[in-house]
Amino acid sequence: MPSAPPAPAVPHVKVAVIGSGFGGLGAGVRLRRAGITDFVILERADAVGGTWRDNSYPGCACDVPSHLYSFSFAPNPDWPRSFSGQPHIRAYLEKVATDFGLRPHLRFNAEVTEARWDNATARWQITTAAGRWTAEALVSATGPLADPQIPALPGLDAFPGKVFHSSRWDHDYDLAGKRVAVVGTGASAIQIVPNIQPEVGKLTVFQRTPAWVLPRADRRIPAVERALHRALPFTRTLRRGILFGVRELQVDAFVRRPRLLAAVQQIAEWHIGRSVKDPALKTKLTPDYRIGCKRILISNDYYPALAAANTEVVAAGLREVRGSTLVATDGTEHEVDAIVFGTGFHVTDMPIGSRITGAAGRSLAEEWKDGMTALRGTTVHGFPNLFLVIGPNTGLGNSSMILMIESQLNYIIDALTRLDGLGAAALHPTPDAQRSWTEDVQRRMRTTVWETGGCTSWYQDAQGRNTTVWPGTTGHFRRATRRIDPAEYELVPHPAAVPAQAEARAQEVGA
Ligand SMILES: Cc1cc2nc3c(=O)[nH]c(=O)nc-3n(C[C@H](O)[C@H](O)[C@H](O)COP(=O)(O)OP(=O)(O)OC[C@H]3O[C@@H](n4cnc5c(N)ncnc54)[C@H](O)[C@@H]3O)c2cc1C
Repeated sequence: MPSAPPAPAVPHVKVAVIGSGFGGLGAGVRLRRAGITDFVILERADAVGGTWRDNSYPGCACDVPSHLYSFSFAPNPDWPRSFSGQPHIRAYLEKVATDFGLRPHLRFNAEVTEARWDNATARWQITTAAGRWTAEALVSATGPLADPQIPALPGLDAFPGKVFHSSRWDHDYDLAGKRVAVVGTGASAIQIVPNIQPEVGKLTVFQRTPAWVLPRADRRIPAVERALHRALPFTRTLRRGILFGVRELQVDAFVRRPRLLAAVQQIAEWHIGRSVKDPALKTKLTPDYRIGCKRILISNDYYPALAAANTEVVAAGLREVRGSTLVATDGTEHEVDAIVFGTGFHVTDMPIGSRITGAAGRSLAEEWKDGMTALRGTTVHGFPNLFLVIGPNTGLGNSSMILMIESQLNYIIDALTRLDGLGAAALHPTPDAQRSWTEDVQRRMRTTVWETGGCTSWYQDAQGRNTTVWPGTTGHFRRATRRIDPAEYELVPHPAAVPAQAEARAQEVGA
């Protein structure tokens, strides 16, 4: 009896997806729908969820309404609140993974440490903590806000108390009665502060720059409304449509007419005034830049928590740590037992960049040393069949990132399903196409509030260039990513001969 052919040493798949947040799971669903079932989703953690698995801090919730902050193909009539909390969003993503048949494709504890394009075989060679794969295409959905950033402060290593980042909350550490410092006043800190202030002994908030904060129109979605959305699906479609339309209309003010935001700024000023009576604190909390320049935050309980008797707002950054004393940049000293860093993420220097190497043997990080660029936020010259989900200039200041992710998935699926017809093994953008896209994005960026509003923000890279936010409506981006334009691409031909071992396709993924 002939013996079975030996299993390939390195399993091969058509597509390898990195990450299992909204981006990676969305990619999985769309691949299956396109009839591509030969793929793996490589995830460094031991569960799906990305942002919504990692961020479990007290008060963690979305700040775009849930009925818009969800997949169009997986509506959820049961969102419990207009801005649902992390446990519900995480459960939603677990359900998406199950309902859409993604479980057989998931590989956990599989951190991608290297992905290298091999010109000879026209394939990606991928090394992970759980083994190696080869793939014809690589979809990188590693998340814009996935790798925490803690500032390198002198003396931090010797701090005798507890230290953690907002996205790595230590639930075993009891904050009750402790002197706690929260460093940073961004989107995470503003949710954390009011939720821990009542239980801690003393709360010290280090605020380098104040944020503009608007009231949060959050409410419980009553059972009758949820039943209505279940019984009459068009009601939830209508709800989503209204949420979407309102945000699309706001974009012009952010992008072309920042002066229109003056009225919004007045609401934010009124919001400070009604919650904070102490004039000195009010001055500390009032930004000196135009609203919208940094991400607008929403909260009803942040200001009252800052005005509470056990809270001190230090209007300065953290400079150094001396034992259990934190020294601010204004020279003041503060004794604490624990430090919570709400200091954001590696956004413009995404760590996966140094792990992905293209056709010329250069890493994405090297390619991007002067700033991130990609054609239509998704593809990069010299990196054949690499597709970035939430790549450069695809972030949003005011609407749901899922809209952008789904647009990119349209584009990626179009590229993958047209390769055969184009007679190519792979594609990557021409330098001209990538350059002219980037120049157009940066030209449109010039009039935006992010550039003209008088602030610096995490939207900008080390050179001060905004390489993160999309200067337009989500509708504009949807149209720009509907299909690939072959004129914008260089095609990589099929190699003359593919080594037999690499040719054998692993039958490990359920088709
Ligand atoms: C606290 C918080 C609140 C937010 N609220 C909103 C909101 O209200 N509205 C909105 O539009 N956006 C919001 N965002 C932005 C949010 O990140 C995106 O909306 C979305 O969740 C991103 O999905 P993603 O799949 O691209 O990335 P992520 O959810 O970050 O998933 C990336 C995944 O890739 C994995 N990964 C990374 N590197 C590797 C590697 N080398 N190998 C293997 N796996 C890897 C990570 O473990 C993670 O599971 C919020 C972000 C945060 C942090």
